[in-house]
Amino acid sequence: MIVNEEETTLLESPEGLIFREIEENKDRYVRIFQRLVRIDSTNPPGNEMRIALEIENFLKGFGVECDIHQFGDNRSNLVATLNRNFKGINVLYNGHMDTVPIANEDDWNHHPLSGDIVDGILYGKGAVDMKSGLTAMVIALSIIKKLKLPVSGNLILNAVAEEESGGLLGTKWCVDNLLRDIKCDFAVVGEPTDFHPLPRAIVVGEKGSFQVKITVNGVGCHASVPFNGINPILILGDILQHLDEIHDFMPKIDPPIPIDVLRELVSTDVVDPYIENLISSVRSLTGAVTMFSGGVKENTIPSSCEAIVDFRTLPNHNVENILKALEKLIKYLGYSKSDDSTGTSVSLEIYKSTDPSYFYEWKDSEYLKKMREAITKSYGSPPCYFLSPASADAEFLRNTGWCKKTVSFGPGRFLNAHAKNECIEISDFINAIKTYTIFAHDLIK
Ligand SMILES: [Zn+2]
Repeated sequence: MIVNEEETTLLESPEGLIFREIEENKDRYVRIFQRLVRIDSTNPPGNEMRIALEIENFLKGFGVECDIHQFGDNRSNLVATLNRNFKGINVLYNGHMDTVPIANEDDWNHHPLSGDIVDGILYGKGAVDMKSGLTAMVIALSIIKKLKLPVSGNLILNAVAEEESGGLLGTKWCVDNLLRDIKCDFAVVGEPTDFHPLPRAIVVGEKGSFQVKITVNGVGCHASVPFNGINPILILGDILQHLDEIHDFMPKIDPPIPIDVLRELVSTDVVDPYIENLISSVRSLTGAVTMFSGGVKENTIPSSCEAIVDFRTLPNHNVENILKALEKLIKYLGYSKSDDSTGTSVSLEIYKSTDPSYFYEWKDSEYLKKMREAITKSYGSPPCYFLSPASADAEFLRNTGWCKKTVSFGPGRFLNAHAKNECIEISDFINAIKTYTIFAHDLIK
């Protein structure tokens, strides 16, 4: 074979070596990914320890030691580093080991823990969210170690528990404990960021979430004489129907990226309702009713009912303001917190909340430009910058001030996360390994 001078140089460059290493070991990488998918780490209960031990076993083969911190019942967080020098540029790769529960196993065409591969696509719970991203990060660390590429900085792998139930015992705990004394220059969370049909995205901010339980107490009675009671279902129905009007009662918050810039960033000619819905959801507060319960018998007007509304907040939104706005809306609709004359009441209770977060200086970041280059080289097309409508562990890295320069980027289609028949193209997983490896090396070389 005749190799011209340019190709020889490319082969000998660190990037050429990395790409060749990945091409030659694809099958091995797919097998470790498959092993992680086959381990049941559905949360609850999590059982992340088994995943951590599998990662430790894999990295041991490359001389990388893992620091595993066990807690609770078979749960753990893991930190592994390329070397012991933390004085140069430190890059953190963060991925969660748990998955959401398997809803209806019978609806799946392949068993959720099978890791089956058909026509270049791997199926299984966590294939997208996010054992593909996590495995690719683990492999990136092993490759830089194996190739003994000279570096002046460090790559830190942080595999965490408990993301799917809030992250306080996972990433938040790691930032407060295992990682506390490390200065981090750039962090990547490996959540799936392919918002197809948009270009693959680097996510520079995530919305927060805030769930509120609305309970309405009415006056129960026999359904045959409804005038004797006050039906709480009708009151709650009225409030939920008017939920969108909450915007009239709260201070206006501009989205971190204006709508015209968002459209420009995702520069695509595709006219698609999904894209429009996605853009709408990342530019304002949204509220969606997700649960409703009420009624005890078909012939009885119940005395109470309740619903949960899931609000998604923008950076700068304040939970107290939203709660106050909801109270004002309820009052405007003619219902009071507590009405002694009728015996009715409406109460609000925060059920769960996570904070929004945003990498404010993303536009001028040299690191992000390098990341964009790495993705373009690995995937063959440039990514866009985008916001995610869903929350992620990135908030603990940014909002604690531990690493404000945090983005999310990972293989897999966003819409496939938490869905039945969750699956990912093997080529996407391999390209993510390429991206993570050349990007980390570029920053710490
Ligand atoms: Zn996830």
